[in-house]
Amino acid sequence: MPNPSALPTSVKNYLASPRPMLINGVWHSPENAALIDCIDPATAERIGTVYAAGGDQVEAAVTAARHSFTDKRWRAKTPAEKARILWRVGDLIEQHADTLAFLETLDGGKPLTAARQGEIPAAAESFRYYAGWCTKLGGRTTDISIPGDFHAYTRREPVGVVGLITPWNGPLVMAAWKIAPALAAGCSVIIKPAEVTCLSTLYLGELLIEAGLPDGVVNILPGNGAAVGAALVQHPQVNKVSFTGSTATGKKLVQAATGNLKKLTLELGGKSPVIVYNDADLEKTISGVAQGIFSNSGQVCVAGSRVFVEAGIYDDLLGGLINYAENLVIGPGLDPATEMGPLISDQQLNSVRNYVDSALQEGASLVTGGKKLNRKGYFMQPTILTGVRPGMRVMKEEIFGPVLSVMKVDDMAKVIALANSSDYGLAGSVWTRDISKAHKIAAEIQAGIFWINCHGIPDMAMPFGGTKQSGWGREAGLEGLEHYTELKSVIAAL
Ligand code: NAD
Repeated sequence: MPNPSALPTSVKNYLASPRPMLINGVWHSPENAALIDCIDPATAERIGTVYAAGGDQVEAAVTAARHSFTDKRWRAKTPAEKARILWRVGDLIEQHADTLAFLETLDGGKPLTAARQGEIPAAAESFRYYAGWCTKLGGRTTDISIPGDFHAYTRREPVGVVGLITPWNGPLVMAAWKIAPALAAGCSVIIKPAEVTCLSTLYLGELLIEAGLPDGVVNILPGNGAAVGAALVQHPQVNKVSFTGSTATGKKLVQAATGNLKKLTLELGGKSPVIVYNDADLEKTISGVAQGIFSNSGQVCVAGSRVFVEAGIYDDLLGGLINYAENLVIGPGLDPATEMGPLISDQQLNSVRNYVDSALQEGASLVTGGKKLNRKGYFMQPTILTGVRPGMRVMKEEIFGPVLSVMKVDDMAKVIALANSSDYGLAGSVWTRDISKAHKIAAEIQAGIFWINCHGIPDMAMPFGGTKQSGWGREAGLEGLEHYTELKSVIAAL
């Protein structure tokens, strides 16, 4: 446990007792429920506990959500009323930003400054962005060609009860990216946060109630993925599931949904390529590429983990990246000096170290890092590998840790094929001063989101999601909202 005196009172109070789950507007602490330990990855110590949902609570939450959808207590509100409540949620997140940032750091390990200045404001922004769409979402009228007098139009209707399943690497922001558009569309929600990072989502539940959301419209069920998550996917009363997590789990969801053809949005893993040309701005590229892999300790779906570098800039870029990695301040997220926190768990740390070992066995060279830090918690050095080849595991599989593979490319005519030689297709970036070249590369790379002279910058207005095995559908933007709607065509003979 971090020095308890350093924690704000609101955080200490929040962690003092097991956190209940939210069903039908009521906080439940079921008598026979198991407790999930919340572990601080910086110390490997327990900081709190949350009640884990079981089958009875899944049933109760789905019933509550369905009831709230059927009686229209939320979806029948006017668009302006919905907008005001969503905007209020954004304001409340901002008012509680310090508490939320501490919870996010304690539970997931990320630096407090990153949580306070990045993820918590981004979560607030998600609610504000979708507050704006409440009054703009609608169908269209169209002239049709059937002879006679007709009036034809489309309606955007809420898809119904939605199950939202989130990962541990950005718990609050992922919850906000799903809950806000679901509510803007008029849906009722059951959200299951990752079992290791439930706290900020549960805290958000309190803010949703305070903002005036009717009972039962958002239900929050911490719990095991294979139990609670899978139950939501299989449940006939859940119309759609929006999932963010690994590609392996995403495939299980697809199988589970084959029986009921439930609508799925899948935001999955990535192995994003970064392409650097000789004419790139060296200093900006070094810090941009390094941040693209080392922020959140590499536990980022769009992490730029494969770097393809034109030969002329290779030595300077590699030297700069090594220097950056070796000067990163690694430590507990609560320490204001920390630039890179721990990995989420011992299991994740071992998995990342196994990837580094596999690369060395396959002939790669370790130019910096590669080791676990000799201290409490799950800390790993920022790591850079060279001498990598496309077939190696570190070039094919998502590591989800601070490990960068750097490859020198003598013939840049081959770089698009190299970058696209992946089962994933989530993101990527190119670094060059030649803007024509940059846009041509952007058009060729198989990815749902691509950056030019920057990496890993999302915006609520820009659709976010993957191609290939990185997923189905998009979040953010109007496109993200439309996934929570059904489109109905109405043709009226006049
Ligand atoms: P994970 O797949 O292990 O778990 C994600 C969520 O799914 C958790 O809530 C988990 O409890 C639940 N779950 C597990 N098994 C389930 C099942 N059988 N049925 C239903 N739900 C189940 O992923 P993780 O390790 O928590 O997160 C890391 C992964 O998430 C990485 O692969 C990363 O790339 C991905 N991710 C993707 C995006 C994106 O937008 N594309 C964003 C963030 C993270």
